[in-house]
Amino acid sequence: MTDCMFCKMVSGEITPDTVYEDDDVLAFRDINPQAPAHVLVIPKQHVATINDLDADSSALIGKMMMAAAKIAQQEGFAEQGYRTIMNCNAHGGQTVFHIHLHLLGGRIMGWPPG
Ligand code: 5GP
Ligand code: ZN
Repeated sequence: MTDCMFCKMVSGEITPDTVYEDDDVLAFRDINPQAPAHVLVIPKQHVATINDLDADSSALIGKMMMAAAKIAQQEGFAEQGYRTIMNCNAHGGQTVFHIHLHLLGGRIMGWPPG
């Protein structure tokens, strides 16, 4: 997708603060962090929302979650704990339409979320 900001990060047109990358996934620091550590894990393949996942793309979710666990170890907060979130569409609060897993760590999280 040429007009997708996260696709531009995958292609290198925009350079994010990358913390992890493999063949399928890219992870970088959120520009507006909501916790001491706030990383976005994205698939390199463009998928607009969770609603657009299909049989071919569903395995990406597992890869994104495994990447998040790896990054939590790398960042040093895996044992203390952390939160992962994927927002979908208006009611979920999604603002960037290339799916992304928020990885938040470094503080105690409240529940329920807002
Ligand atoms: P959403 O609201 O779609 O779940 O999350 C989008 C996230 O992308 C937000 O946390 C926002 O701060 C982050 N974001 C938006 N634009 C940029 C950007 O240009 N660079 C980075 N690193 N994060 C961004
Ligand atoms: Zn995209």
